[in-house]
Amino acid sequence: MVQEARIRHLIGVPPRDGAYVLYWMQQAQRTEYNHALAFAVQVADELALPIVVGFVLIPDFPQANLRHYQFMLEGIADVQASLEKIDVPFIIVSGEMVASVVRLSEKAAWVVTDVGYLKIQRKWREQVGESLACPFTAVETDVIVPVSAASAKEETAARTLRPKILKLKDKFLESISPPHGRGRPNALPEGVEELVDPLSLLSKIPVETSVSAVSAFKGGQQAAKIRLSRFVDESLEDYEESARNPVVPCQSDMSPYLHFGQISPAAVYKEVSASDAPDAAKWAFLEQLLVRRELSVNFVYYNSGYDRYETAVPRWARESLQAHRPDPRPYHYSRDQFEQAATHDPYWNAAQTEMVVTGKMHNYMRMYWGKKIIEWTEDPVEAFDLMLSLNNKYELDGRDPNSFTGVSWCFGRHDRGWQERQIFGKVRYMNARGLERKFRIARYVERVNALTK
Ligand SMILES: Cc1cc2nc3c(=O)[nH]c(=O)nc-3n(C[C@H](O)[C@H](O)[C@H](O)COP(=O)(O)OP(=O)(O)OC[C@H]3O[C@@H](n4cnc5c(N)ncnc54)[C@H](O)[C@@H]3O)c2cc1C
Repeated sequence: MVQEARIRHLIGVPPRDGAYVLYWMQQAQRTEYNHALAFAVQVADELALPIVVGFVLIPDFPQANLRHYQFMLEGIADVQASLEKIDVPFIIVSGEMVASVVRLSEKAAWVVTDVGYLKIQRKWREQVGESLACPFTAVETDVIVPVSAASAKEETAARTLRPKILKLKDKFLESISPPHGRGRPNALPEGVEELVDPLSLLSKIPVETSVSAVSAFKGGQQAAKIRLSRFVDESLEDYEESARNPVVPCQSDMSPYLHFGQISPAAVYKEVSASDAPDAAKWAFLEQLLVRRELSVNFVYYNSGYDRYETAVPRWARESLQAHRPDPRPYHYSRDQFEQAATHDPYWNAAQTEMVVTGKMHNYMRMYWGKKIIEWTEDPVEAFDLMLSLNNKYELDGRDPNSFTGVSWCFGRHDRGWQERQIFGKVRYMNARGLERKFRIARYVERVNALTK
C-alpha cells in the first residue's frame, strides 16, 4: 500500500464512468518502485478497470536540448518495453502539456499523476486540475520522505532538515507491489495510438540541437540499475574517503537517472543500505541522497524564487556581495569565454570541458567551477544567471531542484558566513591552491583532456 502522506487528491470527486484509469507519467519515468503507478493500479483494481499510462512529450521544455531529450527518450523506450511485458497500453503524445493530458483523460474514470517540484510542473498539475471533471490524484514518488511531511517550512541548512528526515525515513521506505496489467481498455482517447519506437520522435519534434547527445550515459531504468549495482559493488566502500576527489571518480552517477525519475531514490537507498560496505561509507552516501537531495526539494518547494538571484540567495550573502561589488576582479570573462573553457585556469577549463563533453561534471569541481564564476564576473546577478544557464544547458542532470540549489549554494544558500574577503565578502571562497593541496589535480586535467582527443 502507498503511504497516505504521499497522496494528494487534487480533485476529490467520485470516479466517473470511464474506460480506464489513466496514469499521467510526468516526473517518475519508470515502472519500478513507482508509488504513483502503484496507486493507479490500486485504483484500477478497485474499479475493475484497465490501466493506461500516458506520457506527453513537449518539444520546448525550458532549457532542454537534444542531450536531455535523447537521454529521456531512451528511458521512455525502457518504460514502454516494461509496460508491454504486463500488457499495459503506453501512449505518448507530443504537443502542449495541459491540452494533451486533458485529451488523454477523455475516457478516464480517474487520473493519477506523479509529482515534480519545479514551478512548471506544479503549474501543469494545477491547470490540468482546472480542466478535468474526474478524480485527479498526485502521488509523491521521487523523494523518500514527502516534502511537506519532512518539514512545513523552508529549511535553512542540512543540519535543520536532517533530524526531521532521519526520524521519518523508515516509515517511507515501504515496499510496494510491482505493477500488473488489467487487460486492454475497450476505448482509447480519440486520435491517439500506441507508438512503437519512442526514439523515432526525436527526429519529429523541433528540439534545440545546439548541444549534442552524450555517449557516456545511456538513459533508462535498466541502465540506472546496472550502474547502481556496479557502484555498490566497486566504489561504495571508498565513497566516504574518495567521493570528493575528482581525480579518482567514485560517485554513483545516479543524478541523471534521479533527475528523469528513471530510478527511485528509495530503491537506491535500499540497495545501498543492504550492501555490506562499511557503515561510514554507506552513511556518507545516504547523507547526499537523502538529506542533501531532499533539502534541494525543500528549497524549490517552499521558495518559488529558487531561480532568481534576489530570492534564491540569502539576504546576508547578497548584502555582503553587494558591498564587495566594486572590488577589482583578478580576471574577467565573457559568457563565450566561459562557455568555450577559455579561462587562464586549467582546472576550471577542465571542469567546464568535462561538463560539455560528458554531460556530468564531478561534484567537487561543480563547487570550484561556480565559485570561480562569481570571482571572474563583475556582477553577482550576472554570475548567478550565467552559472545556472551553463549548468542547465550542459549537465544531463540540469534543470533539477539540485541545479537551483547547487548554484544558490555557491552564493551562500544553506551555508554560513565565513571570514570576510575581497569580492566574496562573507560568502565561502575556494581557490586553486586548495585543489592542488587536496588532490593530484593535474591528473584530473589529463583525464578530461583525454576525453577530447
Ligand atoms: C554549482 C553546482 C551545481 C549543481 N548542479 C546540479 C544539477 O544540475 N543536478 C544535480 O542533480 N545536482 C547538482 N549539483 C549537486 C551535485 O553536484 C550532484 O548531485 C552530484 O555531483 C551528482 O553526482 P552523483 O549522482 O554521481 O552523486 P553521488 O555523490 O553519487 O550522490 C548520490 C546522489 O546524492 C545526491 N547529491 C549528491 N551531492 C549532492 C549535493 N551537493 N546536493 C544535493 N544532492 C546531492 C544526488 O541526488 C546524487 O545523485 C550541483 C552542485 C553544485 C555545487
